[in-house]
Amino acid sequence: MPRKLLERSRSRSSDIYSPSKRSDLMSRVRRSGTVPELRVRAVLDSLDVAFDANDPALPGAPDIIIREQRKVLFVHGCFWHQHPGCSRATMPRTRRAWWQRKLGHNRSRDRRVVAELRRAGWSVAVVWECQTREDTLITRIRRFLGRSQRTPQAVIV
Ligand SMILES: [Zn+2]
Repeated sequence: MPRKLLERSRSRSSDIYSPSKRSDLMSRVRRSGTVPELRVRAVLDSLDVAFDANDPALPGAPDIIIREQRKVLFVHGCFWHQHPGCSRATMPRTRRAWWQRKLGHNRSRDRRVVAELRRAGWSVAVVWECQTREDTLITRIRRFLGRSQRTPQAVIV
């Protein structure tokens, strides 16, 4: 088991916060986030899925954690994570070598994080920023959650 997960399972029994304080903190975390992240959370809320947001104890600090199903979702910005084939994944013209190194580093870290989570038994999905505007977002998320048969409530994304 990766070191970070061991730390997490240890810390669970010795949480420094009371349950009500913890839940207050978690809800505050859930209120922050980028617009694409908020769209994904709105879909999950519409499907009545219990999730946590931004767990720094897991590799890569996933944006969404569905513990019940041991699944995580990353909501990636197309530029910063260099979405393959996406028009937003541009390379700045100035300081090109610096940007190539920086963005290349982001991509290799993403690959490493996904591999680490999968080895630890998590299912991992990446939702790209540009895809959070599409009607297919809810379908993709439902498929990832194994809920493709269920009729969702109306959702605006
Ligand atoms: Zn994209």
